[in-house]
Amino acid sequence: MQSSAQNHYIQEHGHSRSVWSKGSLLGGVSVAAGRGGDAASLRARARTESARSSDEGTAAEPPLVNRGQLFTPTLNEQRQERQQRRAEKIRFRQGLRRFAKRKSVQLCGSRVCSSSGVGVRVAETDSGRRAGFAGLSTCGNLWLCPVCSAKISARRAEELGTVLKNARTAGYDLALVTLTVRHTAEDSLREVWAAVSRGWHRVTSGKPWLTDKERFEIPGWVKAVEVTHSPRHGWHVHVHSVVAYRGSPGDATALGQRMFERWQSGLKATKGHKGFTALPGYGVDVQVADGRSLGNLGMYLSKLGADLGGLSREVTQGTHKVARSKNRTPFQIGRDLVASAEKHDRKIWDEWQEAAPGHRQMSWAKGFRERFGLDAEEVSDEQIAAEELGTDDDTVCVLPSPEWKKIKHRSWELLNIAENHGVDGLLRWLTRQGVGWEPAPLRERRQGAYGGSS
Ligand SMILES: [Zn+2]
Repeated sequence: MQSSAQNHYIQEHGHSRSVWSKGSLLGGVSVAAGRGGDAASLRARARTESARSSDEGTAAEPPLVNRGQLFTPTLNEQRQERQQRRAEKIRFRQGLRRFAKRKSVQLCGSRVCSSSGVGVRVAETDSGRRAGFAGLSTCGNLWLCPVCSAKISARRAEELGTVLKNARTAGYDLALVTLTVRHTAEDSLREVWAAVSRGWHRVTSGKPWLTDKERFEIPGWVKAVEVTHSPRHGWHVHVHSVVAYRGSPGDATALGQRMFERWQSGLKATKGHKGFTALPGYGVDVQVADGRSLGNLGMYLSKLGADLGGLSREVTQGTHKVARSKNRTPFQIGRDLVASAEKHDRKIWDEWQEAAPGHRQMSWAKGFRERFGLDAEEVSDEQIAAEELGTDDDTVCVLPSPEWKKIKHRSWELLNIAENHGVDGLLRWLTRQGVGWEPAPLRERRQGAYGGSS
């Protein structure tokens, strides 16, 4: 960050301010403090954000705007899209199974863990009729499983949104601080990640941190780890954090500087740990938006939940959209591996499945979650992944284990049929496919006779 002074450029317009710097990996810290209320600055912001997101391949959802006209998808289109995404995720999970080393990942969404079999549930929700399974084992592995990852990430994004919105409502400013490490293709993922963990620990502990907390009135932070891999530079592990504070954009820059200094010293070698460095001016990136405007919330969400936004696109966009020579996210590597089973990708994926589990993707400063609207008790990844649609009341039929095996390789089709054609349609379809089903005990009791409603 030493180069930041030269790189700063400051624009002022409108009434609120936003500060960001470009080039988190290559550039120094250039900070633009703009006031975000007027049209010009909004356009400028949109340009900056779209430039940034296309640079990094983590663009937000494309806007639903076509030639200046607002395009609203019909419920039918929304349903189709959702079903398509679900099918892609399930197929991706199936494709990765043969490369999975962990039993739980191999069996996710496949093994029956209820003695009666797999329940098919159909529930009417605000967003239409939804179908799901009950009694299947789930892995809850955010790093390795496309289905669990999407489910967990969606919940974490919601939680993050709640806390950040409430913190802003309470008058706090938010600084997005990204910290990176210099690394080479020779460094193992385990080594780089260990350094990142040590670095972050140093950033947020000890007396200097307590001083920062007091000086900038910091009620807490949340951080997410993002990992990518490139053939030339190897594993790139970095931290996106959002720190709530009170102060000016200049204060955020000062805070970022102080965090960066501790980050650097935390990366140094210790007994049993290889040392790393972060170049001044290259290793930190600070972006700020103030507490009154929610305009940039999406930016925080997509930065912290890099895989949140990233995953859904990777899952739907298919393979080979990213050149092999480029930086790839682990799921992009997984995609390529499923498509071509290349030895080299397999090696990278194996290193990933060895090193990633056990690390948390998102973590919170003590007390930060509950102070801004979440339960003190954090629901675990495994719990989120294991949540099933509805209740036993919504189970419309049960597939005994041998019958489930006949259909599990295309389970998404079954869910689509249930959602599109209702319970009767589903039961007829199952019979036509030669899949035996048993009536759901509760439903049978409630209705007296089977069939009828859909
Ligand atoms: Zn899973």
